[in-house]
Amino acid sequence: MSNTNRLRIAIQKSGRLSKDCQDLLKQIGVKLNLREQRLIAHSTNMPIDVLRVRDDDIPGLVMDGVCDLGIVGENVLVESQAERQNQQQNADVITLSKLDFGFCRLALAWPQELGEQSKDWFEGKRIATTYPEILKQYLKRENISASAVMLTGSVEVAPRAGLADAICDLVSTGATLEANGLMQGETILESNACLIQNPALQDPEKLALIEKLMPRLKGVKQAKE
Ligand code: ATP
Ligand code: ZN
Repeated sequence: MSNTNRLRIAIQKSGRLSKDCQDLLKQIGVKLNLREQRLIAHSTNMPIDVLRVRDDDIPGLVMDGVCDLGIVGENVLVESQAERQNQQQNADVITLSKLDFGFCRLALAWPQELGEQSKDWFEGKRIATTYPEILKQYLKRENISASAVMLTGSVEVAPRAGLADAICDLVSTGATLEANGLMQGETILESNACLIQNPALQDPEKLALIEKLMPRLKGVKQAKE
């Protein structure tokens, strides 16, 4: 459990979600003293601490109650929930809001020179991915027996390197796939960033602060529409 009476929010330290997270906090009125190397940034105008970590750590920090809130891509959230369920660990969160950034999709892709392929082509193939649990759920749903090869980075070079026949990776514009001679296939998950809460949170002051911030967050979202 969180050991302070300040609301703890986990965000990505550096990466595609960091700037949008910092902007969002600012827009809802949370003033932060952000020094580049610090793990924790204290708000100067509210009882809030912001923990800056790798995005992969965010779901677990919120599920375990180390942080009260977190902002993370649904791709990372869904993968981590499946992983934790496999290990019989608590995987519950409350999704307070989907946010209007971090849009991407998890899609299948294979070498362009093979041309268009149907789902049957994946039968018996090796598919490189950073999201093996989401991929396995998809393969099961579609009744395809293929294997997931877990890679934490450079997934798009796996077919060329002979590590896999195809990939299942995050795509936003498709430029990376094209640059690596890959053809994009079916989308298996549409994702964007979301705000999650630890469901066991009971501290009335923290809950009241969240209730105060949520309408501001809705206001910021509506103003952008
Ligand atoms: P970290 O060092 O925090 O682990 P990372 O390299 O895993 O960072 P980023 O590449 O910064 O992660 O992406 C963070 C999140 O941004 C992704 O999990 C996803 O939700 C979202 N995202 C949006 N567009 C893309 C994209 N084109 N490629 C990858 N992720 C994207
Ligand atoms: Zn990551």
